[in-house]
Amino acid sequence: MFEDLNDLYQQVILDHCRKPRNFHELPAATCSAQGFNPLCGDQLKLFLALDGDTIKDISFVGSGCCISKASASLLTEFAKGKTKADMEKMFGQVHEMVTTGNIQGDVGKLAVFAGVYKFPARVKCAILSWHAVMAALKGDAKPVTTESEQN
Ligand code: ZN
Repeated sequence: MFEDLNDLYQQVILDHCRKPRNFHELPAATCSAQGFNPLCGDQLKLFLALDGDTIKDISFVGSGCCISKASASLLTEFAKGKTKADMEKMFGQVHEMVTTGNIQGDVGKLAVFAGVYKFPARVKCAILSWHAVMAALKGDAKPVTTESEQN
């Protein structure tokens, strides 16, 4: 079903899809959030262990397409040691990147998602874990669904 998306499936995405990092529950989690993308069937749950404003540890579980899993996996790698403010800033950069293709500032490995904007149906897959992590940081108990968002 992803025949026409080969351009998206760069090595990094494939690698993180097949072997997602930090893919487990987190007993020491201080907050968590769930995300659903009904259009694709992606669902994931993020676990965060916060120390003040800093993410000491983060993990996720769930199921979904390659893009959503790779996005969550790369998010967890990025997020360790970051603050809420760091995550808010990067959320803005990732959102801009996957909706327009414009990369602002240093997004590191997350740049592999810059091609997603060409495939509108995949944008929600790429941004799902970011909506979920922002919800967790804000302490929103309600599951996040991409259907209530613009993207
Ligand atoms: Zn998906």
